[in-house]
Formats: sequence, structure tokens, C-alpha cells
Amino acid sequence: MKGNVRYSIIIPVFNEEAVIHETYRRLTQVMQSIGEPYELLFVNDGSEDRTAEIIKGFAEKDDCVSLLDFSRNFGHQIAITAGMDYACGDAIVIIDADLQDPPELIPLMIEKWQKGYEVVYAKRLKRKGETLFKKLTASLFYRTLRVLTEVNIPLDTGDFRLIDRKVCEAMRGIREKNRYVRGLVSWVGFRQAAVEYVREERLAGETKYPLKKMLRFAMDGITSFSNKPLKLATYLGFVISFASFVYLVISLGQRLFTASTVAGWASVIASLLLLNGVILIILGILGEYVGRIYDETKNRPLYILRNKQEVENRKPEEVS
Ligand code: UDP
Ligand code: MG
Repeated sequence: MKGNVRYSIIIPVFNEEAVIHETYRRLTQVMQSIGEPYELLFVNDGSEDRTAEIIKGFAEKDDCVSLLDFSRNFGHQIAITAGMDYACGDAIVIIDADLQDPPELIPLMIEKWQKGYEVVYAKRLKRKGETLFKKLTASLFYRTLRVLTEVNIPLDTGDFRLIDRKVCEAMRGIREKNRYVRGLVSWVGFRQAAVEYVREERLAGETKYPLKKMLRFAMDGITSFSNKPLKLATYLGFVISFASFVYLVISLGQRLFTASTVAGWASVIASLLLLNGVILIILGILGEYVGRIYDETKNRPLYILRNKQEVENRKPEEVS
């Protein structure tokens, strides 16, 4: 294990060759200005470009740089998790590689940490250069999650945060597969504080979160922290049964006491389709949960490292 490191910076990277030089430069500048031993722990999440080679180049010249090299793309949340497994610092900072999270905020986080807060998360006041669609869906997602869950997960907060070593150790004990890391950090508790910032545009390259990954991520967030969607079936069942009963009484009344009858065909088809749609949605929700139970039972490791031999000696004991 690497001794005497005070700060570990975890940087998940996936095809980031366009920004990685600048990220390294800015992070190094900030960390050197703090003047205590630090490490930059890059987690290469199966990049297909030259990202890994570039980082190896940094590591050759700079002892502060280490690389965890995944055997394929396991996903952003898993990359962060791997970083936490191997981080040696007393405080650990998680930051995106695209400089949307400004490294210059790290000293402020450290200040709060030194005041005794064990989690310092960065709250986005504004998001620059992102599509209206992304902003709207993100905002809707955080608010839905808040309604659905009892865990107090701060709004508009990403994974950019500082955590104390104690929090990191608690996180290492959580090995669930479909991870929503920022929720888990709230779940483990500890004293938490926020620093606010304006989220910048991505420096270069494209987002590595296409719609499909975003949806999956949202689903993981909701299913990991709430069972309420499962109860939807019960509530909907009651509401629909009640409505159908009222409708039945009205139709019967019309048939018995007036000259007209309720017209049939169109309403039958419409209600049939509606109900089938509802049933399929509910089956889908069930499926999401069942699939996740299946993932857990398979007991596969969360990630596989290509350079396991090189990094094994620095792994803390409590990680299985
Ligand atoms: N990332 C990753 N694996 C993935 C997708 C993204 O490690 O499968 C990293 C990416 O390199 C970046 C961070 O996660 O450092 C956030 O991704 P991105 O900036 O593309 O997401 P956005 O800011 O658009 O939500
Ligand atoms: Mg980004």
C-alpha cells in the first residue's frame, strides 16, 4: 500500500484522449498548490482510444499518477467504485475527467473536510453547455427520486465530492452490482456538507453518457433506493377497479332507466388496450427488479483489472 498519501483523486476515464492532458495539468497544478502528498488515481474504463497509453506516459514521469486499467467498459459508477477500493488517501476526491467539475474547487472541499465534515459534495447551481433535454430530464429525475426514496439524496449533485477515509471504508463494504454511488454515499451517512459551483461545459470530446446509459443509470438510482414502483401495481389496480365499477353502474343505469344504451365497440377496444398497456408497464417494472436480483445472485466481481499484478500490492485489506 502506498503510505503517507494525504489526498487521493479518483478520475474515471472512458475515451478521454481529447481532454486528458489538460485534466492532468489542471489537477496537478491544484494539488501541488496544496503542498501535501497526493495521488491521481485514473481508472480507465475500457477506453478504445489512446487514453490508457497517455496515462501510462504520465505515470512514468510522475510518481503521483497511478492507473487502474479495466479489461473492458464496466461503466462510470463501477469505475468510481474501483477507485475507492484502491485509494490510499485520508481524503478521497471523485472528479470527472472532462473538466466539467472544476479542480479548483478541491481546496474548498478540503477546507470543509478539515472543519470536520466527512462528505463534502459539490452542488450544481447551473449547468453550462448541456442540452435543454439533459437539464430537464436530470432535474425531473432528481426530484422523482427524492419523492420515491426515504434516503436523503441531495438534489442536483453529481459524483464530484470529497469523502473521508472512513466513508470510503464503509463504501468498500457495499458490493451491490447496479450501483448508484451518490445514493450510497448518502446512505452510509456521516456528516455531510455542500459546496456550490457552476458546472462548466465539457472541455472537449463528446458526452460518454448517451441516452441509453442515462436511462439505465436513472433506473439503477430508483430501483436501488425505492420499492415504491412495485407498489404502483396495487394502487393502480384499486383505482382502475373503482373506476370500472362506477362506469358499470352508470352503463347499467342508462340501460335500465333511459332509452339509450352505451355504445360498445370503441370503448371496449380503448379500455382493453389501455389496460394491457398498464399491465405491460407493471410487468416491465417487476422485470427491472427481478433482473437486478438475478445480477446480485450471479456473484460476479464488479470489475476485472488488466493490470491487477501491478496494483495488487496497494490494495487495502478490507476489499474482497
Ligand atoms: N465515464 C466512464 N465510463 C463510462 C462513461 C463515462 O468512466 O462508461 C467517465 C467519463 O470519462 C467522465 C465521467 O465518467 O470522466 C463522466 O462522463 P461524461 O462527462 O461523459 O458524462 P456527462 O458529464 O455528459 O453526464
Ligand atoms: Mg461530463
